[in-house]
Amino acid sequence: MDGRVFMPADQFVLKVNSRCDLACDHCYVYESADQSWHGRPIAVSPEVVSRTAQRIAEHVKTHELDSVEVVLHGGEPLLCGVAGLRRILGELAAALGGLCRLDLRVHTNGVLLTEKFCELFDAHGVHVGVSLDGDRAANDRHRRYRDGRSSYDQAVRAVELLGTDRFRHLYAGLLCTIDVANDPIAVYESLLRLSPPRVDFLLPHATWDSPPVRTAASGTDYADWLIEIFDRWQADGNPVGIRTFDSIIATLAGGQSSTEALGLAPVAMVVIETDGTYEQADSLKVTYAGAPETGLDVFRHSLDTVIEHPGVAARQRGLASLSATCRQCPVVTSCGGGMYAHRYREGSQFDNPSVYCGDLIKLIEHVKDTLPHVTPALRRATHVISDGAFAELAAGLGGAEAIGQLTQAQRSLRRALLTAVYHEGVSAPAVPVAVRERMRGAWQVLAMSGGDRLAVPRALGALDSVLGHPYLRAWAVRCLERLRRVAGDGYAGGDGQISGAGGDGRGSGVSLAADLGHLGAIAAAVAIRGQARARVAVPVTSGAVHLPGLGRLVVEPVAAESAAVLPPGADARWALVEVDADWVRVRVGANGVRLPRPSLLAGEPCRVEPCEADGTVAVSSDGLLSSHGLSARWEPVRVLAAPGIRVALEDTDPYRDCHQWQAAPRLTDAEFARWQNCFALAWREIQANHGAYGPALAAGLGVLTPMVATSAGQDVGSAARQAFGALAAALPAGPVTMALLLIQEFQHVKLGAVLDLFDLCDPADKRLYKAPWRAESKPLEWLLQGAYAQLAVSEFWRARARLGEDDQARAARRYERSRARTAAAIAMLAGSGSLTPLGERVADQMRKAISAERLS
Ligand code: SF4
Repeated sequence: MDGRVFMPADQFVLKVNSRCDLACDHCYVYESADQSWHGRPIAVSPEVVSRTAQRIAEHVKTHELDSVEVVLHGGEPLLCGVAGLRRILGELAAALGGLCRLDLRVHTNGVLLTEKFCELFDAHGVHVGVSLDGDRAANDRHRRYRDGRSSYDQAVRAVELLGTDRFRHLYAGLLCTIDVANDPIAVYESLLRLSPPRVDFLLPHATWDSPPVRTAASGTDYADWLIEIFDRWQADGNPVGIRTFDSIIATLAGGQSSTEALGLAPVAMVVIETDGTYEQADSLKVTYAGAPETGLDVFRHSLDTVIEHPGVAARQRGLASLSATCRQCPVVTSCGGGMYAHRYREGSQFDNPSVYCGDLIKLIEHVKDTLPHVTPALRRATHVISDGAFAELAAGLGGAEAIGQLTQAQRSLRRALLTAVYHEGVSAPAVPVAVRERMRGAWQVLAMSGGDRLAVPRALGALDSVLGHPYLRAWAVRCLERLRRVAGDGYAGGDGQISGAGGDGRGSGVSLAADLGHLGAIAAAVAIRGQARARVAVPVTSGAVHLPGLGRLVVEPVAAESAAVLPPGADARWALVEVDADWVRVRVGANGVRLPRPSLLAGEPCRVEPCEADGTVAVSSDGLLSSHGLSARWEPVRVLAAPGIRVALEDTDPYRDCHQWQAAPRLTDAEFARWQNCFALAWREIQANHGAYGPALAAGLGVLTPMVATSAGQDVGSAARQAFGALAAALPAGPVTMALLLIQEFQHVKLGAVLDLFDLCDPADKRLYKAPWRAESKPLEWLLQGAYAQLAVSEFWRARARLGEDDQARAARRYERSRARTAAAIAMLAGSGSLTPLGERVADQMRKAISAERLS
């Protein structure tokens, strides 16, 4: 090795049969420059399978891989027969079962698929992707038997078999090779009629030497063809995952592509041919004879040797491996230079943009223009942080204007994350259809005008207000992480199942279905604030229906009584929330209650009335809600108020538990009164003695979350990077301490938002630094955060020491100690050599601020 780190391979394409029963004229295996299939064994031998399984197992152990994907491929893999595939799957399971998660797939033309194959795939958890180019006319254009017969009926029969209840969970999706001669909408509609969980539109393999067929004068036929489908797909509310579009949206939002044809993510895939030779991607067969060869094989070489092969390694270098044109391209993070094979031209080899470059630019720009909110807020937000605001923040302060700029950037970020959760949720095959349908219902409320733009008529302010809720980002990040973990898995959480009540715990007991269903709660909150009519499903989580930023409707008894009370088919894990101008109606199973919308908005305790399905007040024999099996009470988010500031005391949101210590359960009225009293006095302390910090707090602190007092003591606070605008704290012993906690922790909030916008530290510096105030060592960014907070602590005690009050001597000692620690930390930062120019500017401003401080 030359010192570079090679990414382990985690995707293996195992060629189990090198021949095919169809003779598609666009096939890259048989119709390309590379004709190596002639000399290969027809079927893979048991020795090759066994050695391949051992090589993968060895690789998994060496690199401690959590999961690998093995795709059974051909030719046509089903030509191996059921018995042949059983032996292969058994061998793979024996070698890899228990070592890591084994994601097995088969790509087939479908014509031989039978129940017997499906039963085998069911036993081994093999997901099946079927190639189908659209309707009969489209499919027959290329996908025919050698004698010219159509394969359409057999392929559709295979897909229908996969769509039956028995085998639906094996149905991975449809692979459609584009022919621009086909009507795109007819292709789209015909594929959707087969209810695929996902569709992959594939550009026909081509190079600069063998360019794609084009007929339109625009020269961007493929973009035009895909754009027609994209627009229709958007208008339909994204009824199916479409890998090309999902990947562009994900990369625009700062995420990763799910196809090697797009994006900059490294490709770590190895092909094993029927003779046991390792090859690079099949698509290279279209470039020149022998292009995929590595000269390596499973009998003599480990997979570590393969990943060091120059051709394989070239796919792992991201931007650096692209042509100069691509490196300067404005859409390169989404495009990634397109499919590697499509860059080929004799002479310059792969050092070119894609032969589809014009199409890729046009398509990506179209998606970007249609979904402007998807583009990372952070990239756009860099333009809205003024230099003056940056300078103020760098010096440890920042007024309302600077905080307002950070707030706008965070709102855009939350909007992009919300969109990403929706798109990834509805396109993830692992998410049950019912959950995706609920998400689509919620999205329709959020996306009612301007195509897919997030806008509720007359309620843009309402959306903005809900996007201002700090824990929306914590929820979105949690959903995206869980979606990425289950990608390719069978779904483990159940439809809406709440595994473990969780109470006010840290959310680990909430199923992914309930997490994704929270999109309905967000939509309901937007509708309530915007006076829009809406009807959405909302999960009943920890015994309550949560409406972010507003409060929760506790309906706990339903879960216990559901078996006795709910009609057949009803589900106590989901509530139906209906909103109109006057009322919010919540139905769980057969039971319903209604709450006056104005009271919810005002944050008042409010009357909860039973209601019938038509929304009218329920008249029961005893007049009690409990007689309907639904005992419900509304718990509003209460507000801590003082002159010039209002902060929500958040003790209902299910995603608030993202701070360092555990969130406290709902406070009693007496406990809330103690918080209010302490908060009002703390604010008076800040206004009187630490006025420079007041404007930022008044402008940016939106939420205070009570935490459980810890062994670290009662006077602890916490800020979370995922929750800009929120602080968490145990109720401090007194107002001075609360004032200090508010100021100190809000420093973390401010700098966290700045770090979301700018790199202040070199991410490549993996060294740990020991801060002067902590025993343990942490990364450089943590030291910067700590120094920034300590700067305010030092200033706080300096101000207290100058008051001449009882704590003067203690305050002076604390000031000297904080000041010394802060100065030492700033020196450490400056000496690290790992601050970016902007990071150096922050450190310099902090150094000037601390140098200017004097006790007298
Ligand atoms: S659009 Fe063209 S220039 Fe831009 S990254 Fe893709 S292939 Fe390269």
